[in-house]
Amino acid sequence: MDAEQLREHAHKMVDFIADYYKTIQNFPVLSQVQPGYLGKLLPDSAPDYPESLQNVLDGETSYFDSYSIAGFLGEMLSAGLNIVGFSWITSPAATELETIVLDWLAKAFQLPDDFYSSGKGGGVIQGTASEAVLVVLVAARDKILRRAGRGALPKLVMYASDQTHSALKKACQIAGLNPELCKLLKTDSSTNYTLSPEVLSEAISNDIAGGLVPFFLCATVGTTSSTAIDPLPALGKIAKTNNLWFHVDAAYAGSACICPEYRHCFDGIEEADSFNMNAHKWFLTNFDCSVLWVKDRSSLIQSLSTNPEFLKNKASEGNMVIDYKDWQIPLGRRFRSLKLWMVLRLYGLEGLRSHVRNHIELAAYFEGLVSQDTRFKVVAPRTFSLVCFRLLPPPNSEDHGNKLNCDLLDSVNSTGKVFITHTVLSGEFILRFAVGAPLTERKHVTQAWQILQDKATALLESL
Ligand code: PLP
Repeated sequence: MDAEQLREHAHKMVDFIADYYKTIQNFPVLSQVQPGYLGKLLPDSAPDYPESLQNVLDGETSYFDSYSIAGFLGEMLSAGLNIVGFSWITSPAATELETIVLDWLAKAFQLPDDFYSSGKGGGVIQGTASEAVLVVLVAARDKILRRAGRGALPKLVMYASDQTHSALKKACQIAGLNPELCKLLKTDSSTNYTLSPEVLSEAISNDIAGGLVPFFLCATVGTTSSTAIDPLPALGKIAKTNNLWFHVDAAYAGSACICPEYRHCFDGIEEADSFNMNAHKWFLTNFDCSVLWVKDRSSLIQSLSTNPEFLKNKASEGNMVIDYKDWQIPLGRRFRSLKLWMVLRLYGLEGLRSHVRNHIELAAYFEGLVSQDTRFKVVAPRTFSLVCFRLLPPPNSEDHGNKLNCDLLDSVNSTGKVFITHTVLSGEFILRFAVGAPLTERKHVTQAWQILQDKATALLESL
């Protein structure tokens, strides 16, 4: 393809995407296809000869989700430039823009100075929060093993709450930790599903007394099930006293850090060794863009650096530059900071703040609707843009309404107009209503609630 063909094709692609945005409301929110549907629509093998772009677009049947136009434009630019910036030398711009953008973001989030690249720390863009937690876990593991000796590996203890995302468990498996010593401490409704400092302290004391080696604590701001906020100040103090690496996972809720009125949810972050948030979740940045900051980048580098002959160059050898390959698992890396840079520049911090505030207001509006209908109950405190609620079961219901709520979920989702998800808290099946799509408006929330009410009425009448 030459430059003129690129111009022609890129215009067609932009038209296609613009039409998609324009008609997005006509698509079912939840895909209505059955497993294996695509194989039936596509040929058995790749075409032997080139096809026209129009042909490909005409046959486009799969659903795709683009997070914001700014993010998409950044992604487009990144694809167009096709930079593989693993070392500074391979793309000084990709490396330096990432450092600058993450320092900008650290400032916008009012993160402690230790997370800035000008000191011993810095930020790096990972593909996902799962990778972010894995790299810090490995750095923390190696740090303690340098002190305690490699023989201590089977005795290392990791702590988090039972509400922590399963990405942490996966990271523990990959890092070779003793699965029994990856302790997901129990939470309940008495602490709104947050990790209790007392429970943590007791577990650490018992483990030390038993000859084990506590080394890592993961707290969450905005747990996946109910957006619970672990008490960072108290947990951070315990981590410090016991010399634990303290990681804070704010994959979803981290975006709210940009609003001064929600910054208090992150108080205590000063005690953290590392902090991550997914810009691709709620920050108008297209997947994939998970931002990780560490206070001591040398710990990451010691665990993840390799220095083969073929990658040696004067800038790296002279310790003059950042080589992000040493802060992540793969060698190659995309120019992801371009999309974050586009988002920051095209929305501005105020634009991003109003995006987050708008979603929180919509969720609060939904919460208000639920609270007014006595057949329903809001079951966990709402801080951000997720509402956890359930339909109350009739008296003497055998399973405490779990089947009823499961049926309500299926019935609502089968309309294709709304997609709600569920979780289980204290043994109860809970419905979750999340506002997160950039195009969601108040009228959509009203419609969703109407569907929920109608389906609940039908279900209750059928009992
Ligand atoms: N941590 C939290 C709190 C999350 O909510 C999620 C995803 O839902 C993750 C981690 C995992 O995110 P990723 O898909 O980026 O690995």
